[in-house]
Amino acid sequence: WSEIMNKLEQQSMASVSFNTWYKDMKLKEIDEEEKIFYVTVPIEFMKTRLTNNSSQLRLVKKCIQDVTKVDYTPIILTEDESNVSLKKESNNFLPKSRLNQKYIFENFVVGKSNEFAHAASLAVAESYLNPHEAHSNPLFIYGGVGLGKTHLMQAIGHFVQSQDPSKKVLYVTSEQFTNELINSIQTNKNEAFRNKYRRVDLLLIDDIQFIADKDRTQEEFFHTFNELHESNRQIVLTSDKPPKDIKALEERLISRFAWGLVVDIGPPDLETRIAILRSKAESEGFNIPNNVINFIAENVKSNIRELEGALSRVMAYSKLTTSEISEQTAAIVLKDLYNTKKEKVINTQIIKEVVAKSYKVNIDDIDSKKRTRSIAYPRQIAMYIARELTDLSLPKIGEEFGGRDHSTVIHAYNKVERDMEEDTSLKIKINNLMREIKE
Ligand code: ADP
Ligand code: MG
Repeated sequence: WSEIMNKLEQQSMASVSFNTWYKDMKLKEIDEEEKIFYVTVPIEFMKTRLTNNSSQLRLVKKCIQDVTKVDYTPIILTEDESNVSLKKESNNFLPKSRLNQKYIFENFVVGKSNEFAHAASLAVAESYLNPHEAHSNPLFIYGGVGLGKTHLMQAIGHFVQSQDPSKKVLYVTSEQFTNELINSIQTNKNEAFRNKYRRVDLLLIDDIQFIADKDRTQEEFFHTFNELHESNRQIVLTSDKPPKDIKALEERLISRFAWGLVVDIGPPDLETRIAILRSKAESEGFNIPNNVINFIAENVKSNIRELEGALSRVMAYSKLTTSEISEQTAAIVLKDLYNTKKEKVINTQIIKEVVAKSYKVNIDDIDSKKRTRSIAYPRQIAMYIARELTDLSLPKIGEEFGGRDHSTVIHAYNKVERDMEEDTSLKIKINNLMREIKE
C-alpha cells in the first residue's frame, strides 16, 4: 500500500491535490475473489469527491495496477461505512474488535448535551476494569444521528483494550450481527457464531434498533445477552431511541436493556459546536480565525457529522487555493449546504427565529430540553407552524426540533390547534407569525 501511495504522490497533478485527496486513504481490505481493493477515507466529502471524479478514481486504479500487476477495482468507503459494509464476515470468527482509531475519549468534546452520556461511558469503562466495583450493565446510549453515540461506544472499547489488552472487545453493528447470524445458519456454523459472541468480554452493539422485527436475531441476541450478563461481562448498546420506543422490540429485551443505565445524547449547543470545531481544526493543524469558526457553528446545527463535513470542506478549499480562510470564503464554500436548505422556501430555522423573537426566548432554547412553559409553549407553536408551512414529515420535524419524537410533534400540533380555537387573540398572533415567516 505504501508503494501505491508513493506512486500516487508522484503521479498526482500537484502536491496539494495529493495531500488533500489521497494522503488519508487507507487500505482496509483486499477481496481476492472479487478483485476489489477496499480503501477508506476519513470523511464523506472525500469519498464523494473521489468517487464522482472519474479521473481521480482512475488514477488510484492505475497506481494499484502498476504496483500489483493485477486488475483490481478500488472501492472507496468512509471509515464508518467500512465498519459496516464489508461482507464476508462469516468466514472470520476471530473476535477482531474493529474499532476506529479516532473514536477515543481524548477526542471527545464534552458539552451540556453529552456530558451525562460521556460520564456514564467513562464510568462504565473504568469500573468494568475494577472487578470490585459494581458496573452498570448494560449501558444503553440513545440519541439522533451524528451526535456521537458510536464515538462514545468505541471510546469505551479503546479504553478497556488499552488498559487491559487481554480483554476481548468486539464492536459490531446490529446489521453485522444479523448478517453473521444468517450466514452462520445458512452454512451450518451456528455453533461457531455462538462461540464467537460468547467469548467476548466487552460487547459493543451499535444501532440495536435494527434488530427489532427480526425475530430470529432477537432470539439469538437474547441468549447472548443473558450469557454475557450472567458471567458479569459488559454490554454496551446504542440506538436512535430509548428501549421502550423501539417498535417491535420484544418485551423481554426492552426490560433487559433497562437493567443497567440508559443515557441520552442531545444535539450540541452553540458553545459545544464551537469547541468541537476548534478541536478538529487544531488536530489537523489548521489555523482558522474565530469568526469563521463561529460562522460555521452558527450555520451548521443539526449534527456533528455535518459540522465536521462543513469544516473539512472549508479546510480543503483553503489548502487547494492556498488562501486565507475568511467568513466570506467560508460562505462560498458552504453554499451547497445553504442552497439545499433555501430551496425549501420555508425551513424550520426561519420558523424558530421568528417564534423565538416574538416570544423573547433564546433560539437555542427552542431545541433544548427545557420544559418551563415560557419555553415549551413557543416551541410547540413553532412545531405547529412547521407542520402547517413545510412539507416535512412528523419525524423530520421532531428531528429538527432537538431530536424529538414524532408523537411529541403531534401532541404539540393538537394542543396549539385546540388553544387557537379557544383563544382568538392567540389565533391572530399565530396567523401573524405565519405571515411574517412566509414573507
Ligand atoms: P452517531 O453514532 O451518534 O450517529 P458518531 O459517533 O458517528 O454519531 O459521530 C459522528 C461524528 O461526529 C464522528 O466523526 C465523531 O467523531 C464526531 N463527534 C461526535 N460527537 C463528538 C464530540 N462530542 N466531540 C468530538 N467529535 C464528536
Ligand atoms: Mg453511529
